[in-house]
Amino acid sequence: MMNIGIAGAGVLGRLLAWRLIRAGHRVTVFDPADGPLARGAAGWTAAGMLSPSAELECADLQVFRDGLDSIGMWAEIVAALPGTPDFARRGSLLLAHRGDGGAARRLVDLIERKAPEAHRPRPLAAAALGELEPDIHGPALAWFLPHEGALDAPQFMRALYEGAQAADWRWSQPVEQTGEGFLTAADGRRHVFDHVFDARGLGQRPAQGPAAGCADVRGVRGEIFLVRAPDVRLARPVRLLHPRHNVYVVPRRDHHFIIGASEIESEDRSPVSLRTTVELLAAAHSVLPGLAEARIVHTETNLRPALRDNLPLIEQAAGLTRINGLFRHGWMIAPAMTARAIRQAGIPFPASGASAA
Ligand SMILES: Cc1cc2nc3c(=O)[nH]c(=O)nc-3n(C[C@H](O)[C@H](O)[C@H](O)COP(=O)(O)OP(=O)(O)OC[C@H]3O[C@@H](n4cnc5c(N)ncnc54)[C@H](O)[C@@H]3O)c2cc1C
Repeated sequence: MMNIGIAGAGVLGRLLAWRLIRAGHRVTVFDPADGPLARGAAGWTAAGMLSPSAELECADLQVFRDGLDSIGMWAEIVAALPGTPDFARRGSLLLAHRGDGGAARRLVDLIERKAPEAHRPRPLAAAALGELEPDIHGPALAWFLPHEGALDAPQFMRALYEGAQAADWRWSQPVEQTGEGFLTAADGRRHVFDHVFDARGLGQRPAQGPAAGCADVRGVRGEIFLVRAPDVRLARPVRLLHPRHNVYVVPRRDHHFIIGASEIESEDRSPVSLRTTVELLAAAHSVLPGLAEARIVHTETNLRPALRDNLPLIEQAAGLTRINGLFRHGWMIAPAMTARAIRQAGIPFPASGASAA
C-alpha cells in the first residue's frame, strides 16, 4: 500500500482517486472547491462525448487510440461505479447542410486520412439517417461513426467521488506547489507522500513567471446549454459541420439535451454570450426542428485546459506525476491516461478486471 496525494478533483483527480483506492492505496485529494458537488472543474460542464474519430479534427493518433481504449475501459468502470451513471455506445453522427458541403467534406477527408479504415466516417443516405434518428430533418449530408459513445459527465463526477469515499477528500484546500513526494497547500503546510499526482488543470500554471510543460497551460472558453424537449427523440450525439461553428447535440436522461459548444481563445468565465446563444441554438434547431419548443434549463461556461499543441501530456519524475492538456477530450481519454500515468509511476495496480478498468 502506498500513500498517495492528488492535487485536483476534476476528471483526472477523481478517476485517479477511484482507481488507486480500488487498488488498495491510501489516497488524499486536495481541491479549492467547497465540496464534492461544487462545479468548478471543466469536467462538470463537458458534454461527455467519447468520439475518438471525430476528435481527429484536432488530435493525433495517440489521442485517437487512447480514446478508443478508454471507451472499453469506461464500459468496465461504469459497471463498478455506484448508481450506474449513464454511458452509451451507439455511435455518433456528423451532419451538414448542402450549402456547407465543401467545408464538411474537407473535415471528413481529414478524419479519413488520419483514422484507421474501420473508424472512418460512413456516408449515410437519407433513408438510413431517418431510420437511425427519425427526428433529424434538414441536413443533406450525413456520416455515421459507429464506434463512438457518450457519458453523462455530472453523473460520473458524482459517482467517481462516491466510489472513492474511502479517500481523504480535502475540500477548500488549494495546492500551491507540487514536488517530488510532496505538495504544499495554500495555507503553507507541506504534505509528504510516497507519490503525488498533479491534476490541477489550469491550476498548474504558476502565479508568476515562465511556465513549461504541463504548467504552460491556457484555458479555452466553452459554453453549453442544457435544454429539455419531451417531444424530441435522439439516441446518439450529433455534430453539425458548419464553416464557423462546431455544434453538437448530446442526449441526456429524461428528454434533456446538451447543446454545445463554443471554443473561444479566452479565459473569460462570465455567462454565455448572446452571440453564442443565437448561433448555437439556431444551428441545433436547423437539424432537430423539434427543439423549437425546448425549454432552456441551464447554461454554463467553463475553460478547457489546453497546452500549446493542444495535446495531452504526462510528466513523470520520482515521486511526482503531472498530467495536463486534456483540452476538449478529457472524458474521452482519461481512463487510458490515468492507467498509463499510474503504471509509469511504478504504483502497484492490477493489470485487468474491473478494479483496473
Ligand atoms: C464546454 C466544454 C465541453 C466539453 N465537452 C467534452 C466532451 O464532450 N468530451 C470530452 O471528453 N471532454 C469534453 N470537455 C473537456 C473536459 O471537460 C476536460 O478535458 C477535462 O475536464 C479535463 O480534466 P482535468 O481533470 O484535467 O481538469 P478539470 O476537470 O478542470 O479539473 C481540474 C481540477 O483541479 C482543481 N484545481 C484547480 N486549481 C487547484 C489548486 N490550486 N489546487 C488543487 N486543485 C486545483 C479544480 O478545482 C478542478 O477540480 C469539455 C469541456 C468544456 C469546457
